[in-house]
Amino acid sequence: MKTAIMWFKTDLRLADNETFAQAIASSDQVIPVYVWDERLFEKTPYGTLKTGIFRKRFLVESLIDLDKRLRSKGSGLMLLKGSPEIEIPKLAQAYHVQKVFAKREVAFEEKQTAPAVEKALWKVGCELEIYSTSTLFRADDLPFSIKQIPEVFTAFRTKVEKDSFVRELIAEPEVVVSPTIPKVNWELPEIMRDNRAVLLFEGGETAALSRLNDYLFVSKSVASYKQTRNELIGPDYSSKFSVWLAQGCLSPKTIYHEVRRFEELHGANDSTYWLIFELIWRDFFRFLFKKHNERFFYLKGIKSAYPNQIIHNEQLLETWKKGETGNDFIDANMKELNATGFMSNRGRQLTASYFCYELQLDWRLGAAYFEEQLIDYDVSSNWGNWAYIAGVGNDPRGGRALDIEKQTQQYDKNATYRKLWLETSN
Ligand SMILES: Cc1cc2nc3c(=O)[nH]c(=O)nc-3n(C[C@H](O)[C@H](O)[C@H](O)COP(=O)(O)OP(=O)(O)OC[C@H]3O[C@@H](n4cnc5c(N)ncnc54)[C@H](O)[C@@H]3O)c2cc1C
Repeated sequence: MKTAIMWFKTDLRLADNETFAQAIASSDQVIPVYVWDERLFEKTPYGTLKTGIFRKRFLVESLIDLDKRLRSKGSGLMLLKGSPEIEIPKLAQAYHVQKVFAKREVAFEEKQTAPAVEKALWKVGCELEIYSTSTLFRADDLPFSIKQIPEVFTAFRTKVEKDSFVRELIAEPEVVVSPTIPKVNWELPEIMRDNRAVLLFEGGETAALSRLNDYLFVSKSVASYKQTRNELIGPDYSSKFSVWLAQGCLSPKTIYHEVRRFEELHGANDSTYWLIFELIWRDFFRFLFKKHNERFFYLKGIKSAYPNQIIHNEQLLETWKKGETGNDFIDANMKELNATGFMSNRGRQLTASYFCYELQLDWRLGAAYFEEQLIDYDVSSNWGNWAYIAGVGNDPRGGRALDIEKQTQQYDKNATYRKLWLETSN
């Protein structure tokens, strides 16, 4: 009997999951596994945590949901605790597994694990097969090699829009044949819910698909996305898909095909296009990470010169983190982040710009703080956007300070947002 392991990582879904579909197609039975690796919760060299409490909770919710969905297909999610390079080969040996199927990771640190697992698997006569499943466009469908990816977004976007395509969806399996998978007593970390939060984020594919349906077909907010995307309050000014995309509870291809379906039913406009345009930004940063690897974590990023005027000042750093800088707009955004694990795109642009140009701190400390706090933390989108703003990434115009006063007037004219976060409490 052919037995495979499906090693779930940041692809916690059944729908449009090529890795899982391949694991099922090539074997008689599959063991779906998640490895809870404590290294994911350690401190970073910047003194911040790799994963804060909001994302930890969201991750556990996503695992519970995946387990439920798998059980409804006759299987379940096996939970292993430890490091994948030890636990996966142990499991492979115990069940005489021939192949392990997993998702390819893009960022430097995450990429170290797969070769270590592969090496350990070889020793027990087992192979590792990996698939790239987190982008809208597939790397091998791009009109250029990874090495030749344009460094400027517009060049990247126009080329992929013209010369590439988005593949069809991969169907969710109807039945999953597995050996008996023991039930897990999941421990859900406690969090404080803030009633000012934009949305009550719940992890898992079920919640992701429900949000996709709500945003597109119930509130139909996608039809006005381009006009509302820079707002700050409430569930529907933007899609909020990022939290589910980050854990892979939802694939960007699923969003793409659902937006196309929306367009067929209700008509296409600037807004429906713009949502896909933003997903192309996400792909852009992911492919750039494949190209430049660990350089995105350097102070000088992908450039040859260091950013100007970097100072070290713990106190300034703390005031920014806590939302006590004295700039109301910045403070309101940081308070929202700390209380909910989310911040709007406008807020992220401005708090990062303030960090780099007003406080003149090492941008990596800001990026590391976002890494800890954001539910939707995604290594490429976070470090890529921070490097961009700091002037050491892919902004062709170099480092540019945003005009915070002007944008505060533009996006929070009546101070509604500032009042919400500075003058009211949970
Ligand atoms: C300093 C900084 C840090 C960021 N860190 C992250 C991060 O860790 N994780 C993350 O997913 N996004 C990050 N972003 C990008 C963006 O702010 C969020 O994706 C967006 O605010 C999430 O809300 P939404 O899903 O409602 O977005 P929407 O406006 O509805 O956009 C739809 C989707 O497009 C993608 N997208 C939108 N804007 C960007 C962008 N600038 N870069 C890459 N993808 C984008 C996201 O996947 C998003 O879910 C960061 C931006 C900045 C400026």
